[in-house]
Amino acid sequence: MANQETLLKGPVDVNGRLYAWPQSPVVVICVDGSEPAYHERAIADGRMPFLESMLQDGADLRAQCVMPSFTNPNNLSIATGAPPAVHGICGNYFFDAASGAEVMMNDPALLRAPTIFAEFADRGAKVAVVTAKDKLRLLLGHNLQGICFSAEKADQLTVADNGIDNILERVEMGLPPVYSAGLSELVLAAGVNILAQDRPDLMYLSLTDYIQHKHAPGSPVANDFYAMLDGYLADLDMLGAVVVITADHGMNAKSDGHGCPQVIYLQQILDQLPAGVLGGGTSRVVLPITDPYPAHHGALGSCATLYLPPASDLEAVTCRLIREDGIIEVLRRDEACGRFELPADRIGDLVVIADRNTALGTSPERHDLSALSEPLRSHGGLSEQTVPFLVNRPVNSLPAGHRLRNFDAYWVATALTEQ
Ligand code: ZN
Ligand code: ZN
Repeated sequence: MANQETLLKGPVDVNGRLYAWPQSPVVVICVDGSEPAYHERAIADGRMPFLESMLQDGADLRAQCVMPSFTNPNNLSIATGAPPAVHGICGNYFFDAASGAEVMMNDPALLRAPTIFAEFADRGAKVAVVTAKDKLRLLLGHNLQGICFSAEKADQLTVADNGIDNILERVEMGLPPVYSAGLSELVLAAGVNILAQDRPDLMYLSLTDYIQHKHAPGSPVANDFYAMLDGYLADLDMLGAVVVITADHGMNAKSDGHGCPQVIYLQQILDQLPAGVLGGGTSRVVLPITDPYPAHHGALGSCATLYLPPASDLEAVTCRLIREDGIIEVLRRDEACGRFELPADRIGDLVVIADRNTALGTSPERHDLSALSEPLRSHGGLSEQTVPFLVNRPVNSLPAGHRLRNFDAYWVATALTEQ
């Protein structure tokens, strides 16, 4: 009979994948919106000396994120090690046909798979999850016995709810504004402090893409952000952790040469279709990027899903949309779900994807662009799927034919690195 220790510290099966018990603490950092050019330019400009040296001995890889290339689906994929078809979170919003309402996907009741965090904690591992924005906290912390909090609400922590309570005092920082680089810095400072003091087996640090939405790779503000990140990476490495740095998605300019947002308004196009194409019913455009933080992107990203009346001529709608300069894909629900591993019951009749420099909106009056202080930068499409996958240890060769995904982070860290 296996003794209790062996049983507790054996491999853990989560969503059909085996994760070895970590010998050293494993820290995965999701640098929100980290198009690879950000760290590449910062290294070239001499602003990330630690990362530069880390990549000489470790692994400098690229991975594909899940589609749509938005924050919630990808954070939940990293947390569960599985695509949205398994965990159910395919955007920040979905349309619930039963209630006729658009529902924000931040409720753990919508999550269909256990997280790696909760499963390891159940087996006795110490786990810490820190996210910048509070919108992810309940999903990432679902059923988790451990530390879980957001930097956004770091002044309201209790041991009962968050597994920790005095983080601002511990890191000697004040509460940063929600729209700031400081929110990500607090996540990183907390991560270093918790690693040093509590020594968790697994840690997840999820930042915010506030800087990436406003500043291009190599710009002074972006380089300052990555220089800040570099200092914390050095600290985590020095404390003996296996560190994987990846991203939920990349980021591209969605504006024209004058800095004006380049947007296709889908509801406007649907409303102008000849009578009969929609069978007389009403259509609905759902933008899964929509979230409570509009100053980032004005709810404009490069992916949308359309709910059309049952009598609609899908072929005619597709033909009309694909004619639009800037739209690169119009997929039927089944096609999109097969190709991108999405949950069919949370996707509309059609999925529309825009190109690298184009965003999709509903109608102009439904987007408040006054909060955008810089030319629009956003994500959501295929052009934001390539993300960094950087490890501070050499990575053993991947199984033949394996296409590296950002949600392989804990599997690579526990199974494919020397600990
Ligand atoms: Zn994001
Ligand atoms: Zn974003």
